[in-house]
Amino acid sequence: MAKKVLIIGGGASGMAAAYTAARCGASVTLIDKKEQLGKKLASTGNGMCNFTNARIEASDYHTHHPEFMKRFVSRFSTQDALRFFRDLSILYTERDGYYYPANFQAQSVVSALTDSLKNLGVQVILKCNAENVEKKGAVFAVRTSQGTMAADAVILACGSEASVKDLYAFSAGRILKHLGIPAYPIYPSLTYLSGRPGDSDFEPVWAGVRVQADVSYRREDPLRPGTFRTYTEHGQLQLTETGISGIPVFQLSHTVIEDLEKGRDASVVIDFLPEFPEETLRAFFRNIRENEQRQADRPNPLTAGTLLGRWVPKKLSAVILRRTGVPASLPVHSLADADFERVLKALKAFRYVIGGHGSLQEAQAAQGGVDLSAVSDRFEVLDLPGLFITGELLDVDGPCGGYNLHFAWGSGIIAGAQAAGVEAYR
Ligand SMILES: Cc1cc2nc3c(=O)[nH]c(=O)nc-3n(C[C@H](O)[C@H](O)[C@H](O)COP(=O)(O)OP(=O)(O)OC[C@H]3O[C@@H](n4cnc5c(N)ncnc54)[C@H](O)[C@@H]3O)c2cc1C
Repeated sequence: MAKKVLIIGGGASGMAAAYTAARCGASVTLIDKKEQLGKKLASTGNGMCNFTNARIEASDYHTHHPEFMKRFVSRFSTQDALRFFRDLSILYTERDGYYYPANFQAQSVVSALTDSLKNLGVQVILKCNAENVEKKGAVFAVRTSQGTMAADAVILACGSEASVKDLYAFSAGRILKHLGIPAYPIYPSLTYLSGRPGDSDFEPVWAGVRVQADVSYRREDPLRPGTFRTYTEHGQLQLTETGISGIPVFQLSHTVIEDLEKGRDASVVIDFLPEFPEETLRAFFRNIRENEQRQADRPNPLTAGTLLGRWVPKKLSAVILRRTGVPASLPVHSLADADFERVLKALKAFRYVIGGHGSLQEAQAAQGGVDLSAVSDRFEVLDLPGLFITGELLDVDGPCGGYNLHFAWGSGIIAGAQAAGVEAYR
């Protein structure tokens, strides 16, 4: 008789699990608390669904068990994710290593998955919130808002609370607690960072500016005190009313937030002109100043404010001058070397003290979650055979670039096959 597999959560990993389990011959039921499947999936990659990356490495992921991710990545590669998409008849394309469906429409990925589930005979039950899971002998009993359901195997694919705003309180945490499954505390990741109140009041001045910048974060290795590592991310930096945002900030946010949550001080260093070495800018400035000194008595000399506004966006130049105490009206011909060095430092190494961050509801991912030492490489709970946990519910999160969806597909596919009694992806 076909194995009865019940999957809780119809997001990326739950749908991948349902698809695989059904293809492996199981009788599959997929429940979701929402009114449709794949709601978060439909919003990924700004609605374009960046579903995997050409360079997936274990070291790209954050987890307390990096050796688990080494085994995962060797089992489920970029090629495996691409094969899954080909199986779904999705044409895909690559941009700088990031993979997207060729039509850049996340909704079409959701449709391909839901159509396939229908064709495979998966029973989908919507607006159905799982409240509790219990194992009675060899069978699982899942209490839901639509009654109790029985299954031979259960896959918990409830994702995280990141970016979720809905009626039901997130019950996965309670389910895990009730089952005694260990988990690390949950914090946001892939979100904005805000300045420390009292340290800065200039954010309203720079709000709205977007610049290509390098953002660096130096931290002490928590496992090796006295050893420091600097993380640098390049990309479009967004300066906001309260702080900093954009891809380079998102990429650093896991580490910065982890430190803030542990009560450590955190500040980032921003290079607003990463293409230009200090020596180049210094020589350029001296040239301009010499020129200005030759015509110092002209009626409208070039001022520090005007010059800097030609190097970086005007609003940002105002913040730089404010920080360095150089008056915007100061003629460049009388700008002393020491003053210019302060301006240069603010342009190339602007220290920004972080005091806060986006909430879970504002974040694209969650850090923390189920301790990977509680599950096998096939995502089966060691103490509760037949129960599987996949996707973002686990203590794994990756950077922007398709890493989180890659993990969702891989964990769902491996668990789905195993739950159906087939060992796939050796
Ligand atoms: C705005 C945004 C953009 C993103 N863009 C990208 C991107 O481009 N590339 C990338 O790799 N990652 C991206 N991510 C991250 C990615 O979407 C997630 O990591 C991924 O969806 C996790 O898959 P999952 O199956 O674990 O959880 P989800 O996809 O969140 O699915 C969980 C499902 O479980 C359901 N559920 C939860 N609890 C219950 C319950 N008790 N009973 C029944 N149902 C329940 C939920 O309704 C949901 O449908 C983005 C995230 C956000 C928020």
